[in-house]
Amino acid sequence: MRVLLSALLLTIAAAAQRPAIDPPTFLDSGVDGPTVMVVGGVHGDEPAGFRAARQIAGWTPVRGRLVVLPRANAPALEAGTRTADGGADLNRAFGDEDFASDPLAHALWSVVEEIAPDVLLDLHEGAGFAASGKSVGNSIQHAGTEVSARLAKLGCDAASEDLEDEQHQVVARPTLVAGSLARAAHQRLGADALLVIGHEQGKLATRTRRLRLAVHAMLVELGVVAHPPRVFEPNDERLLAVALFDDAGASGKGPGRLETLLDAEHGFVLRRVCGADVREGALSAFDVAIFPGGSGSGQAKALAEGGREAVREFVGGGGGYVGICAGAYLAANNYTWSLKITDADVIDREHWARGRGQVELEWATAQRGALGAPARGDVLYANGPLYAPSGDDQLPDFEVLAWYRGEIRKNEAPEGVMLDTPAVVSGRFGAGTVVCSSPHPEQTTGMDQVVRALVLRAAGAR
Ligand SMILES: [Zn+2]
Repeated sequence: MRVLLSALLLTIAAAAQRPAIDPPTFLDSGVDGPTVMVVGGVHGDEPAGFRAARQIAGWTPVRGRLVVLPRANAPALEAGTRTADGGADLNRAFGDEDFASDPLAHALWSVVEEIAPDVLLDLHEGAGFAASGKSVGNSIQHAGTEVSARLAKLGCDAASEDLEDEQHQVVARPTLVAGSLARAAHQRLGADALLVIGHEQGKLATRTRRLRLAVHAMLVELGVVAHPPRVFEPNDERLLAVALFDDAGASGKGPGRLETLLDAEHGFVLRRVCGADVREGALSAFDVAIFPGGSGSGQAKALAEGGREAVREFVGGGGGYVGICAGAYLAANNYTWSLKITDADVIDREHWARGRGQVELEWATAQRGALGAPARGDVLYANGPLYAPSGDDQLPDFEVLAWYRGEIRKNEAPEGVMLDTPAVVSGRFGAGTVVCSSPHPEQTTGMDQVVRALVLRAAGAR
């Protein structure tokens, strides 16, 4: 008994000293087949790898086992740096000298060794384009085995879907960088190991999609997964699922602020989606879609005809829409490219560049309680749309939640046009609710709760 107890105490002491590695998500199909391990976040400044792995952790294997570790280096991810403070480069820590001597590398190797995967896929992002001979961006490094070479080829093809430039194509390389986790998994555990490396530039949702598609093609080839490369699978009904549009035309500080505001602590789970995701039907897994600031026409272009129709179907079928600034232009009724899901025309279009600054809002009396909004208060305005009812019989009238009680009129915008126009509106489109905000409450101090309340309002039908 004494021996057992001291052994237990030693185990606890060792566990306490070991750096925290999240327990991997272990998905067992119950059917004989390979064990595939997907690792993300080995480098903390390569967020698409972590995000793609987090998406893959929601998939359902039909053969073998899928083991996913999205945050291999949680401290580095939280800091947004390649390595954790004082820690080793986790993808160079597995060379023959000082193998896994770094505490976090040791903990990571213990997990990989215990799982003993048949296939290990480690997700990264790199600079440059490997196809043009510059660095390792957009490449898949593989162990040189028949299986890993075949998987790499399929991954490259899938991840290159939208890349027209030959120099940007994702290319396979029969080599695994020295000291990498993948190389160690191949040499020490006999795994068919691959390093899937995206490109560090571009919108996060697009970068994440590229890695996700590469892994999906490989999992389909292995017979492990049979469903489409989905972005999100709701698994916690207490959380409201929010898709944040993140593609060309979505820019500025809004997306990052929304991601911070709409967190699990406040009852939300948020995932970024790009135009291609939307065209493939990704919104159907969500309660609300948010189209943030940037350029309304840019977002419309990134969605393309098919994506715009998918958004209309999503909202018409009961989904919520929140448009902020550019997203409010996108929802309007009077551009050739707009979604026409709110009964509002944008007025004084020739002076859209009327400037940026604080402007006073008055919240409608009936809304203040539900939204937690003050009677009046300043909000950040940045060239948002000026709305007027468009009087379209096909669309229900919108309700005004807040009015502009001040105005901004740079670049020769005429006086009095903005004053007393609707600033935040809400209306129905089919079975769904559309909430549009011309200004930026998500970038205004003290309005976090109002933003959450607006998202909840859009989700009303769900
Ligand atoms: Zn990396």
